[in-house]
Amino acid sequence: MNKEFDIIRRYFKKTVSNAILGIGDDAALIVPSSKTELAISMDTLVSGKHFFADTDPYKLGYKSLAVNLSDMAAMGAKPRWAMLSLTLPKILAEQNEVWLGDFSQGFFELAQTYQIELIGGDTTSGPLSICVQIIGEVAKGDALRRSGALVGDDIWVSGCLGDAALALCHEKQQMVLESDEIDYCLSALHMPTARIVLGQKLIGLAHSAIDISDGLMADLGHILSASNKAATIDLVLIPCSSVMQRVIQRPFALDCLLSGGDDYELCFTASKSKHKAIEVLSEELSLPLTCIGEIIQGEGLIVKDADGNEISMEKTGYDHFRS
Ligand code: ADP
Ligand code: MG
Repeated sequence: MNKEFDIIRRYFKKTVSNAILGIGDDAALIVPSSKTELAISMDTLVSGKHFFADTDPYKLGYKSLAVNLSDMAAMGAKPRWAMLSLTLPKILAEQNEVWLGDFSQGFFELAQTYQIELIGGDTTSGPLSICVQIIGEVAKGDALRRSGALVGDDIWVSGCLGDAALALCHEKQQMVLESDEIDYCLSALHMPTARIVLGQKLIGLAHSAIDISDGLMADLGHILSASNKAATIDLVLIPCSSVMQRVIQRPFALDCLLSGGDDYELCFTASKSKHKAIEVLSEELSLPLTCIGEIIQGEGLIVKDADGNEISMEKTGYDHFRS
């Protein structure tokens, strides 16, 4: 049997119940639920750029879907269908029992958690690259956008920031972490939790939202430019894990916290009148939601230290990861 079809049949073809037609024809067929809009997004992970070539394929399968789920979370959408375009080096396709088996297991384990169905894709050979398209649903007019922030809004973030970037610092030997610290940070890097439930619960609470994939500074910056607003945030309020708290004084740590990326937490803005409701939601989800600042009139992002003084962006190393 043709190798490509063999791979698709063995590792990716599953029976579908939420699609009219899944893998096997020239296109998939889906019917959106009534009174919904489709939220559609795509993310590509390229070997050597987004992950090390020897990354555990199970984790890679998991993460390639997780980063797409994070985009659905940021829109407040419920993810429903996925498509997977795989570019595989011959060597991995040949040892498919190992690599493809683990990769598809990681992918489907996360897919099953949210009842997402893989309805199609493409398989080619070449340098390893994984592209996932995700299709979700959101009630008409309800989707959370980057452009909705209003003056006076609180700025919130979920979870803790910077741990995935700490893992990268460790891998690049820019920082030495203890073995329990590195285990924790590596799991943040390889198996991020998309805030799917939070995203959907934020409909009716948040004015704007984004997922933090490129670091807080950059992604909050996207909300500000899309909303034509400015913001002040307090450095001391940014939520840190115990590992980050332990290393925060070391070189690179602040860069990780503010602009490291790969966090996949949500940053959102909401009216002050929703402050209490968001605290209640945090309890309900057992997920820290932290108010770190406020939307103001103007342009740009001001970060303040514990004394309320503005920190210069050079000092925070804001551009460090960009250079
Ligand atoms: P065509 O040549 O008509 O484009 P393909 O041979 O590319 O068809 O794909 C055959 C079927 O397998 C299609 O339904 C396609 O969506 C699906 N498919 C191909 N590669 C993948 C993959 N990596 N994951 C999931 N479905 C796939
Ligand atoms: Mg094709």
